[in-house]
Amino acid sequence: MLREVIKMDEMVSRLVKELQAIVGEENATDDRAICTSYSRDQHWHFVPAKNPACVVRPANKEEVRAVLMLANTHKIPVIPYSTGINVRGLTIPVHDGSILLDLSRMNRILEINPEMKTATVEPGVTFGMLLEQTRKYKLRPAFPDAPLTVSVLVNYYLRGIYQTAATDGHDHTISYEMILPNGETLKTGSRALSRMPYFRYGVGPDFAGMFCAHPGTCGVVTELTAKLYRLYDNRKEYFIGFDDVATPTKLIYNLMNDELAASIRLVDNQSWLKGIFGTFDYPYEELPKFVLCVLVEGVDGVFEAKDTLVRAYMKECGGEVLDLPAEFATTFEHESLGGAEKSCMVFGIKGRGNYHCIGLYGPLTLAAKYYEVHEKTALEVGIPKDHVHFYIDPIYSFHGQLCYFELDIFYDGSDPGFGAKLRNYNERQFHKLLDLGIYGWFRPYAGIIEPTVERIGYLAEVWKKFLRVLDPNEIMNRGKLF
Ligand SMILES: Cc1cc2nc3c(=O)[nH]c(=O)nc-3n(C[C@H](O)[C@H](O)[C@H](O)COP(=O)(O)OP(=O)(O)OC[C@H]3O[C@@H](n4cnc5c(N)ncnc54)[C@H](O)[C@@H]3O)c2cc1C
Repeated sequence: MLREVIKMDEMVSRLVKELQAIVGEENATDDRAICTSYSRDQHWHFVPAKNPACVVRPANKEEVRAVLMLANTHKIPVIPYSTGINVRGLTIPVHDGSILLDLSRMNRILEINPEMKTATVEPGVTFGMLLEQTRKYKLRPAFPDAPLTVSVLVNYYLRGIYQTAATDGHDHTISYEMILPNGETLKTGSRALSRMPYFRYGVGPDFAGMFCAHPGTCGVVTELTAKLYRLYDNRKEYFIGFDDVATPTKLIYNLMNDELAASIRLVDNQSWLKGIFGTFDYPYEELPKFVLCVLVEGVDGVFEAKDTLVRAYMKECGGEVLDLPAEFATTFEHESLGGAEKSCMVFGIKGRGNYHCIGLYGPLTLAAKYYEVHEKTALEVGIPKDHVHFYIDPIYSFHGQLCYFELDIFYDGSDPGFGAKLRNYNERQFHKLLDLGIYGWFRPYAGIIEPTVERIGYLAEVWKKFLRVLDPNEIMNRGKLF
């Protein structure tokens, strides 16, 4: 045993020397303290902590290529990591001896093109960094509710976005560049053909779509071109209270169908609303259980017309239009424009300290059912009702009323029995939701992929074969998906 440990240590030391020759001495290390800092994330109830063997921090794509080729030759697992804010164990190693490829030094905004309304970025560029620059052109990226320190490239590449601006839709990715384990460069869309990376459907199939949403597999994305959206001066917020999930769906449908609202969000007032507005001392318990937050925006003329229609729909919706303090409106506006650092408050301050969620896409028509199943399963496994929370983000105004649903449980992470309850909850809930019918999961994380792959038939075989073509030595994301 001791001999094996010594042998492993020697191998890692040799590997680190080779990596240092590529990225410089200070950017590759097997220092235990540094490796440990990459060993766990918020999903620790589901993904056990594990240290990578070493951490390497390339500065550019040529260094990425050299690291990948070295790892491929020695068949060493590689875990790309851009900002590492993920809450799903996606960058936690599965195998001993993995290389953690930290791309945060590659943080250049390569282009903002106001005419095309696009931005081209490297993996380490965060939403905060990008917004600072795009604001100058009255443009913004589409925001997740994640902290502004999250990587734009990875967020869009994971295609997991669920955001407050329903009008933006879902696909913000236009094209990208990826380096494969064998060192080849793969470019998608018009980027493959010319210096103009502005069109997704360049040549042949939609390859940009094919590589997206199975993170860390295939290769390492080194550049991405994404859509930008307009910033409007005219903005108005409304808050409408409801006691259940079913009643507001008619109003949500009308707002989506007529494309009236920039942002629509049905939140549970005790978790999300309280979290969003948490800095205010306000008797939230007196509000209805659910609150629909609606943001209307647009250019002169269009804005007024939209606002008139929104008010008309609100009148007939069966909810209570709430007269919340003026600061609340500003806070919501800020939130939907990427002031999402507030999300963290939900978990840390206003929640119970920790939070678990199942994120999924499905139709608005199933909203009340998802909530019912969520509450029922939680009670079955012994999670109290007041730990159960929920919210809906409508995403498209068409396509089967696509919504992002989040089934949340706020809990105290130091409660000794809670991890087991959550695992039990997950196991039951994944199957129940799949039986009920969903469009898809937010991300293919631990425990979710297995019951899902069983149900997708031959597509699973094709998916696996596709990955083996690009990564025959299986060094990328090993053990995470298949
Ligand atoms: C408070 C909070 C709220 C959040 N809300 C949202 C939300 O509303 N919407 C949303 O979409 N997300 C949300 N998230 C999740 C977060 O936005 C994502 O985790 C993030 O977009 C991905 O960035 P990351 O830092 O997690 O990526 P990383 O942890 O660096 O990587 C995530 C995955 O992508 C792979 N990967 C990383 N870089 C590359 C690369 N260059 N090439 C190939 N693969 C790569 C990794 O191997 C890993 O599998 C939230 C997170 C927090 C903490």
